[in-house]
Amino acid sequence: ATPTAIMVATGVGAKNGVLIKGGDALERAQKIKYVIFDKTGTLTQGKATVTTAKVFSGMDRGDFLTLVASAESCSEHPLGKAILEYARHFHFFDDLSDTKNGHSNKSFDWLLEVTDFSALPGHGVQCFIDGKKILVGNRKLMAENGITVEEHVEKFVVDLEESAETGILVAYDDDLIGVMGIADPLKREAAVVIEGLKKMGVVPVMVTGDNWRTAQAVAKEVGITDVKAEVMPAGKADVVQSLQKGGSLVAMVGDGINDSPALAAADVGMAIGAGTDIAIEAADYVLMRSSLEDVITAIDLSRKTLQRIR
Ligand code: ADP
Ligand code: MG
Repeated sequence: ATPTAIMVATGVGAKNGVLIKGGDALERAQKIKYVIFDKTGTLTQGKATVTTAKVFSGMDRGDFLTLVASAESCSEHPLGKAILEYARHFHFFDDLSDTKNGHSNKSFDWLLEVTDFSALPGHGVQCFIDGKKILVGNRKLMAENGITVEEHVEKFVVDLEESAETGILVAYDDDLIGVMGIADPLKREAAVVIEGLKKMGVVPVMVTGDNWRTAQAVAKEVGITDVKAEVMPAGKADVVQSLQKGGSLVAMVGDGINDSPALAAADVGMAIGAGTDIAIEAADYVLMRSSLEDVITAIDLSRKTLQRIR
């Protein structure tokens, strides 16, 4: 495209909240064959909400929530934030009968002290409370720590996953003590955009670190058949490269730190505007309105710009 055409297209994009970093990305966007979508925060609203807190040990519910939330209190992950928020609400109602707390609705004074915290990407979190190890995360985290997951617990997690929720397991002092069910609704425009892309001859793909059963349930709701689940953060870029092998051009749409290697590896990286700075830096396009409709806007803009100058 001529510099003028690129300038015009960049201007039209900007007016629609689509920031294009350079003419090369603009030219490549018209030839995209695959668009890979990250699940959490990209196809979904990224507003994870706890729906279920099931205690499997004899532990008091409030004590269970305090432990889990304390473990997640150092986490930056949306799942961690959802758990903390859920526990806060629980304790808020507790606090109402306790006038010395002044009914502060943002009180976190019930959180326990945590030591040796570590976030384990693609697995969950680990730390120590009262000198005992607490693990909050998925099956992989439990398996790698030798935690036994009994059949009725596994069934409980499977049921959550089949209804498109994420099941988070909690182990304390080497015992599985409970499970949290977390839902994250699809963005309202997601299904329409996927359908639109297919009509444009583009193949939508979903990639996620979440388990395959939840991934399948979400993909089905949104109309995606090509799903890569249980992908470790570093593995998302490998998914991009494997689709590029036949010479096809691949776009990646993502919002998270985990997505940045894949955004950089893609022929066209598109970051969700509401996403993390690292993702935005790694991308060629920034979708400022955080709407998936703008994936179509971006491809359409590229096609039209280049047609005009041919
Ligand atoms: P995604 O690619 O969908 O953004 P991540 O790679 O961030 O997913 O996480 C993958 C999985 O790891 C989650 O579905 C969850 O099971 C587990 N996980 C990651 N961080 C946490 C956390 N802070 N608390 C509990 N589980 C977590
Ligand atoms: Mg994400």
